[in-house]
Amino acid sequence: MNTNTKILPLEFEYYEPENLDEALELLSRFKERARIIAGGTDLLVKMKRELLKPEVLISLSRISNLKYIDEGEGSLRIGAGTPLSEIENNPTVERSYSALFEAVRSMAAPAIRNMGTIGGNLANASPACDTAPPLLVYGSSLKIKSKGNERVVPLEEFFLGPGITVLSPEELIAEIQISQSEPPKGSAFLKLGRVSADIAKINVAVYLKREGKRCSCCRIAFGSVAPTPLRIYQAEKMAEGEIFEEQVIKKVALECQKQIKPIDDVRSSKDYRVWVSAILAEEALKAAWLRSEGSL
Ligand SMILES: Cc1cc2nc3c(=O)[nH]c(=O)nc-3n(C[C@H](O)[C@H](O)[C@H](O)COP(=O)(O)OP(=O)(O)OC[C@H]3O[C@@H](n4cnc5c(N)ncnc54)[C@H](O)[C@@H]3O)c2cc1C
Repeated sequence: MNTNTKILPLEFEYYEPENLDEALELLSRFKERARIIAGGTDLLVKMKRELLKPEVLISLSRISNLKYIDEGEGSLRIGAGTPLSEIENNPTVERSYSALFEAVRSMAAPAIRNMGTIGGNLANASPACDTAPPLLVYGSSLKIKSKGNERVVPLEEFFLGPGITVLSPEELIAEIQISQSEPPKGSAFLKLGRVSADIAKINVAVYLKREGKRCSCCRIAFGSVAPTPLRIYQAEKMAEGEIFEEQVIKKVALECQKQIKPIDDVRSSKDYRVWVSAILAEEALKAAWLRSEGSL
């Protein structure tokens, strides 16, 4: 049966470790048989539909040192177990990381944002995942841990395909690391869904840095247009060093449209995604530019 019933039709062992070391020990013991559960807003749906049948669930809910937002000099570190609603309500995120703020605020409904975590959103590796485009344009990295080991992976190298990441069965995401250069800079996120609070038909994030009237750095990332969230390097290069006026913005937006490779699926058609991508890119570029001059 492959329907989303209210029943979990599986038996599994359930662990609630009190600290990270215990969780890593359990992952190392059970390996492929186990799954981490953070908020459960993706995982439980898949278990109800019998798309995933873990024998062991390891909950992160009691591990308090995976839930934090630490601000540094031009940087932000977010514990992977931080609920989306805490990110949405963080004044630094709202003030200085507009694209991430807008992405989180666009997700689901408050109840889901109270349960769902940023680490779960990334580890779930949906091509439509809303936090990936902003984190990609900020050049973020993930601190990944396993028993006795730690590595830092650029987010650009994390996603391998729909639902597939570089994580081994013994690893978990511990922290999201974001750094930004000094102002003047601006970022923006836009998303189209069937209704508000829905998974994206398509989403886009832009990060820009300016020197006077010129754009000195441009980063653009889309979701729901390829098997993984996607940076559009060719379009970024067309913006860098240019005086950022209407004509340049349109050229960059049209390049985005050329580079994406969406598919038809239940949420949208390929043609609609291609058509609307240039409009979304243009609007996001304009919003990020206005923010970089402090006028939005
Ligand atoms: C009604 C509804 C609306 C939604 N709307 C949106 C939306 O608008 N945009 C969007 O992007 N998503 C949406 N989602 C999906 C979901 O809410 C998010 O992806 C959420 O952030 C998942 O986080 P979680 O903590 O609940 O993950 P879980 O369900 O607990 O876990 C998801 C996956 O990640 C793994 N995992 C969790 N944490 C870690 C970790 N720290 N390290 C390694 N692996 C880990 C789990 O093993 C599992 O495979 C929606 C879901 C629902 C039910």
